[in-house]
Amino acid sequence: MRAGARSLSVRPAPRRLPVETPGVNPLQHLFDRNRAWALRVAEKDPEFFPRLAREQRPKYLWIGCADSRVPANQIVDLPPGRLFVHRNIGNLVVHTDLNCLSVIQFGVEILQVEHVIVCGHYGCSGVRSALEDRAHGLADNWLRHLKDVMRFNRRELEGLPSARRFDRLCELNVMEQVTNVANTSIMRNAWKRGAEITVHGWIYDIGNGLVKDLGVSLDHPLQPEY
Ligand SMILES: [Zn+2]
Repeated sequence: MRAGARSLSVRPAPRRLPVETPGVNPLQHLFDRNRAWALRVAEKDPEFFPRLAREQRPKYLWIGCADSRVPANQIVDLPPGRLFVHRNIGNLVVHTDLNCLSVIQFGVEILQVEHVIVCGHYGCSGVRSALEDRAHGLADNWLRHLKDVMRFNRRELEGLPSARRFDRLCELNVMEQVTNVANTSIMRNAWKRGAEITVHGWIYDIGNGLVKDLGVSLDHPLQPEY
């Protein structure tokens, strides 16, 4: 066999696991839970799923952390269809992240949401990693943005007792991301054409389930632009 021919050889077809056989699918319990949930919802409101299938008209775009303890809809007790959601590690809004920018553009221009909520949380592992000098692999390139937030606010953070520093960095990160949302061309253009959209910065306490408004809401472009 010539060198290189091996890479062109046909790979065996992936083995398909049976999904319908009871006791075989290790995720069967999730399908069971899904079915039970769908039945409960439909029993309570038979029009719920047909209505949602026709369209979504959420008023809120939620930008939150991917942390499993911070499920957007549950925190604010809203059913499907009421939140347009983007989540990533550290609830970051990065100016070159086409994924996040596309969500913001779709939410603002197509769905015409009225509020963009950046919701961080105390105890955020992503934020904690910025305070540590430890390698995490590929994710370090993403977490770098959190180290930037720390650098921007170094003076304030160094003046705090270490126990408070972590919590404050979680808050400062939310504030930074609110600024980043407001500075996107999407938001600036929306405000320029008179759209009434407010960007909010919230933080969620995983210790008691409560959300706090950080008081950094914006309903107009930052001036001067920076
Ligand atoms: Zn987090």
